[in-house]
Amino acid sequence: MSLDLQVGVSLRDINTFGVDVETMMMAQIDSLDDLPELFTAIDEIGMDWLPLGEGSNVLFVDDYDGIVVRARLRGIEWLGDQDGWARVRAGAAENWHRLVEWTLDNGLRGLENLALIPGSVGAAPVQNIGAYGVELDRYVAAVEAWDTRQRRLVRLAPEDCGFGYRDSRFKREPQRWLVAAVELDLPREAETVTHYAGVREEIASRGGDPADPRAVFEAVCALRRRKLPDPAQTGNAGSFFKNPLVPELQYAQLRDHFPDMPAWPQDDAGHVKLSAAWLIEQAGLKGYRQGAAGISDRHALVLVNHGGASGRDLWALACQVRDTVEARFGVRLEPEPRIVAAG
Ligand code: NAP
Repeated sequence: MSLDLQVGVSLRDINTFGVDVETMMMAQIDSLDDLPELFTAIDEIGMDWLPLGEGSNVLFVDDYDGIVVRARLRGIEWLGDQDGWARVRAGAAENWHRLVEWTLDNGLRGLENLALIPGSVGAAPVQNIGAYGVELDRYVAAVEAWDTRQRRLVRLAPEDCGFGYRDSRFKREPQRWLVAAVELDLPREAETVTHYAGVREEIASRGGDPADPRAVFEAVCALRRRKLPDPAQTGNAGSFFKNPLVPELQYAQLRDHFPDMPAWPQDDAGHVKLSAAWLIEQAGLKGYRQGAAGISDRHALVLVNHGGASGRDLWALACQVRDTVEARFGVRLEPEPRIVAAG
């Protein structure tokens, strides 16, 4: 038995905002075999629970009145090769960026655009992480997760994961799923994706070949390091707001007023993606500070803790940004990270 249950645990070092909060309880496991015991204990205690990996996609507004679950399920395995594709399985607690490096080191392509996204493998399908024109769901073969309804470990095919733009059923159905592992199908040969602004320029400036996934990886790492504040120095959770998807008609009306507004029509007809960073910057909030809570002066999408901000301070500023953007553009921004607030 290796279920480790503790009471009154500080989360300050396991959320990248560095917010000083406590969880009522913390449960940690090291193996898939511990899952039944973990969820029996959670049922007996009768409190809400919350999975926590590296804490890079969560804002704790208050202390957590429940059980934080840390599933320390590790391991990266090669499951097989077929027709130029390899299947790889990674445990939820593996670091995402380390997995990206591992795949490239082993001659597999596809994940290079997703380099340096903070967080664990288990968080990746929850958010359906994406960057520079690639989203995780393109490569998911299956997600293994504990289903609290069926009380067993299930293996979900991609079509059963409800993936959307920074969205999935794991995100929409909290309290139901604990992601245990992700299986990916990755190609040995595939065209790189380099159409996002800055990527080709960055590759060229480094003397790289845009068809080489390693060159794309290096470029994405350099771009991210330059543009985004390092959570080890300034608390943050990467992009705080999702890019809003608005109906075409609303976009046409906005474009009449703001002809420079960046926008990208979506494949699923009828919607246009706007840049949340542009909206925030135009609202004059890039670099704005309210005490120790701020909007990064490097990237308007990043909410930052300059030191000592509470979860309430950060959330108050996020709400102010959301309301200011809505008053100016009629577009309501939604947070990308999970917001954990009391009652
Ligand atoms: P950027 O190039 O300044 O562009 C701003 C936004 O416009 C991005 O969020 C991106 O949406 C969208 N965009 C840009 N070019 C596009 C294109 N050719 N087609 C469709 N949409 C396009 O973006 P950035 O903030 O520096 O970020 C670059 C990439 O890194 C983006 O993909 C972004 O999502 C990703 N990123 C992720 C995080 C995170 O924590 N999750 C943090 C920072 C950046 P998308 O976001 O939909 O790609």
